[in-house]
This record gives sequence, C-alpha cells and structure tokens, in this order.
Amino acid sequence: MQLRALDVIAEKRLGGEHSRATLEGFIGGYLRGEIPDYQVAAWLMAVLWRGMTPIETAHLTEVMANSGDRLDLSAFPHSIDKHSTGGVGDKTTLVVAPLAAALGAQVAKMSGRGLGHTGGTIDKLEAIPGFRAELSSEAFMAQVERIGVAITGQTGQLAPADGMLYALRDATGTVASLPLIAGSIMSKKLAGGARSIVLDVKVGSGAFMKSEAEARALAEAMVAIGVHAGREVRAVISSMQQPLGNTVGHALEVREASETLQGGGPSDLRELAITLTYELLESSGLVRDRQAVAAALDDGRAYERFIAFVAAQGGDPKALSQLSIAPDQTLWRAPRAGTLHGLDAERVGRAVVALGGGRRRKGDPLDLGVGATVHAKIGQSLAEGEPLITLHHRGDRGLAEALRLLEGAAHLENTPAPPPPLILQVLRGSEP
Ligand code: URA
Repeated sequence: MQLRALDVIAEKRLGGEHSRATLEGFIGGYLRGEIPDYQVAAWLMAVLWRGMTPIETAHLTEVMANSGDRLDLSAFPHSIDKHSTGGVGDKTTLVVAPLAAALGAQVAKMSGRGLGHTGGTIDKLEAIPGFRAELSSEAFMAQVERIGVAITGQTGQLAPADGMLYALRDATGTVASLPLIAGSIMSKKLAGGARSIVLDVKVGSGAFMKSEAEARALAEAMVAIGVHAGREVRAVISSMQQPLGNTVGHALEVREASETLQGGGPSDLRELAITLTYELLESSGLVRDRQAVAAALDDGRAYERFIAFVAAQGGDPKALSQLSIAPDQTLWRAPRAGTLHGLDAERVGRAVVALGGGRRRKGDPLDLGVGATVHAKIGQSLAEGEPLITLHHRGDRGLAEALRLLEGAAHLENTPAPPPPLILQVLRGSEP
C-alpha cells in the first residue's frame, strides 16, 4: 500500500511510534522527490515536539545510513572512527589517528571542514604544506592498508538523506531535537563503516551542549544507536569550559598536536587523546591499560606514524617544525587581578574566526596562519595586565573585532577555583 505522508505526520503529531517500514517509506519518498519539503518540515516539527523512542531513533538512523554509499572496512580487523561534537582548539583527531594506528588499529577517517566557531580537521591538515586532504576511494583504502591511517574529506555520497534533512532542519528551526541530532551524527558514522567508534561529546561554553545533562542524554542516545547497529560504541563526555590545549587556529593547532605526538604538548590535550584512544582500542584487546597508550606517545611510535601519514598524503614532514604562523602578534591581558574561573571558549573561537581563521559562510577562504595562544587555564592566578591570550594576526585584519569579542571572555574572581575535570563521564556501549 502506498504510504501517505499526511498519515505519517499525523502519527507523529499524536505521539505515535513509527515502524521501520514507515520510516523507510517516508525518508525514501523524500529522497526521491516524491514527498515535498513542506510535508517533511511539518513532520520534523512533530518529531521535535513529540520525540522518538530509542528503537525508532535507531531505525531512522539506519535508514539514513543506508541512503547512500557505505564504506566497506570489513577487511580490516580493527577499524576505528572518532567523532567530536565540536570544540574550540580541538585538535584531538590529529593525535588520536596516528596514535591508534601505531598501536595496531586501522583508521579510515572521513572528516569535515570547520563551520562557525569550531575548526575542522581537514582544514587543519591543510596547514601542512603540500598536504592533500581529498583522496580517491582507492587511494584512501590503499593507504589504510599500507600505513594504518588515512584522513580525507568526504568521498562519495555518505548518508545523503541526512544531508537533505539537515538542510531542511536548519531552515525550519528543527535542529535542536535530540533524536534528530543523534541520528544525524550516527548515520554518518554507521555509513563510515568502522567497527569501533568513540564519540567525544563536548559540554560547556564552547560546545553545542551547554549542560552536562544534555550532553549525557545525547551521548546515551548515540551509544544506543551504535549498539543497535552492532558496533562497539563508547562516548566520552569532556569539558569545553575553556579551549582545549593552548592554541586555537589551524597551523598553531597542528604544531601543538605534533608536540603532543612527541610526548610533550599540553596536559589536557594529552589526557583526552589517551582517554579516547584507550576507549577505542581496549575492547578489541589492542591495549590493556592507559599506560600502553601513553608509551606510544613517549617512545616515538605515534610521531613516526604521523610522519608516515603526512608524507603519504603529500605533506612535507620537514615543514612541521616551521609551519607558517601569521607574523603579527597582539597581547590580550587580564583586565584585573584574580583567579581565572572561566574562559569562554566560544568567544575565543569567534575571535579567531574574526581574524580570518574561520568561515562565516560555506566555501569562504581561510587564513590558516592566524589564531590564538592561550596562556592561562582555569584555576590559575593572574596579576592585572598579565598576558592571557596572544592573537596571531595579519596586519590587524579583524583585530578590533577579535579584541571586542574577547572583552568579558575571562571570568576572574578573588576566590580560588579548582581546575575543572576534563573527562566528566565515559559511557560504554556494551554495558546495560
Ligand atoms: N552535527 C551533525 O552532524 N548533525 C546534527 O544534527 C548536529 C550536529
């Protein structure tokens, strides 16, 4: 029997649960152009208000994941993938991917470009002279086979139904629905083919999810989808109350990731990278404890794999120690004395966008050399006028706006502030 879009909208409007067949018919009809935008928009609004049950969300996700190409990684025994819900200064993928490969995993990763105040992995990698971020499917798979790690922009059509629904959600005020967000993210992860997936769910001023309760609900929904689809999925809820590491901006972040891969780097970035890698590899027995992961950072194995990865994608490993950073520097200083209680990561991210380091619209060119170096973390005491952030800019471009954005970004008090925990919770898919 022909599915009637009006019946599907009514079912959801009344709080009903769709069957898998209904979702296949409805989403398939939309993809083929048989169901118009306005009916899907009405349905999206009904979903936003009525929600979806976990099983319904899992079915929607699988329908979206099946709507286009799926990467077949079945030849690889330990294929892994990582997703971050987006943060400021989040260069963790640059560390986790070669680190996990050095420990025996296969990382066949498709990454995105940045939009808004958070940067994208592909853009960051392009700060390395010569680096090719777009690989053909054949080159991508051959590189994973050869060195265990390849990162590319999207090849083929991964979850095209999600692309269409996301654009419609964006235009109809229906983005902020937990099942729709969870389904959207996980449809791309399922189509990406990896057996083990770790989700870094960020919470705080620089993140999509502002409260821990919201982040936990999203993490639980995504883990449940992954378990239903037979994947090993874990979620790490991590703090984005301040930028991660000490730098924000493409070339600066590659430099910091490179230092971390050599056993140095900021302690929060190191801790998060070790946690995510451990959660990815422990279930398949590649590592037994966190020390085994840390050892690969400290003894040069992770950096060696990074160099091989950069070279395989056309990058010049020698250039890693002399990446092109914007030549001009301006210090932003503590407006008063006190202990740092908060540093609004979103404002720092937006300041870097203002300098030319982010896109306001899809396709905008980026200045990969601009950025910010952050000199203090929450809990640190500062004298009035002490440097808090160095802005790296090019001839004052965007500087006035960046400085305006930083006004009020630092929260200084006379009372002490304990450094906040970075890792708030780990959720494991195999647990009940
Ligand atoms: N990221 C996605 O991929 N989808 C959403 O719905 C939200 C964030």
